[in-house]
Amino acid sequence: MKKYTIITIITIGIILGFLTGIYLYRLNRITHEQKDYIAEKVEDECTAIGELDEEELANLITTNNSEEKTSPNCIITLKVYHEACGHLIESRQSIEETEVNITEEELKEKFSDWEVQKFTPTEIVLYKEVDEFCDEHYLLKEDNGYITIYKLDENDNAQIYNTTDISTEYLAEEDLEQIRNGIKVCTDKELNKTLEDFE
Ligand SMILES: [Zn+2]
Repeated sequence: MKKYTIITIITIGIILGFLTGIYLYRLNRITHEQKDYIAEKVEDECTAIGELDEEELANLITTNNSEEKTSPNCIITLKVYHEACGHLIESRQSIEETEVNITEEELKEKFSDWEVQKFTPTEIVLYKEVDEFCDEHYLLKEDNGYITIYKLDENDNAQIYNTTDISTEYLAEEDLEQIRNGIKVCTDKELNKTLEDFE
């Protein structure tokens, strides 16, 4: 009887030892696998970030912050529709320091009378309508053989804006007659185009 008890205890001891051994081995292996996995993941992310260009990086950083913010190289386009004359005047400018790193909501607060038509970290488009005349109404006229540029207000009052060195001497008869009567041109873009045609 005593002999059987001893054998049973020894057997149980061996089995327990064996099971503990397996348990510890598996635990150790899982920890190692997790470490390898984490190391691999970190390495992947490092490589990915290294390959991104500046804009993508800016996007990534802002996306990670869950909300997009303006970057220092952002360009703002201002579009103003002038109801009185029907002209849409566009101008582009670099972002002001005080407008860098802000969200769309914060931008809307700063430009409360503008409509935000586009918002990305690198490009913003703002739009508004005003009931005034735009200040890009011009009159081209001949003065002492050269073309002079006048600016027109909403009542068609002309004021000298700029002189040019474009001579009217070699213009065709038709063009000469037009320029002597005065040619009205709207927007800076059209003005430059018309002047180029005369040069
Ligand atoms: Zn206008």
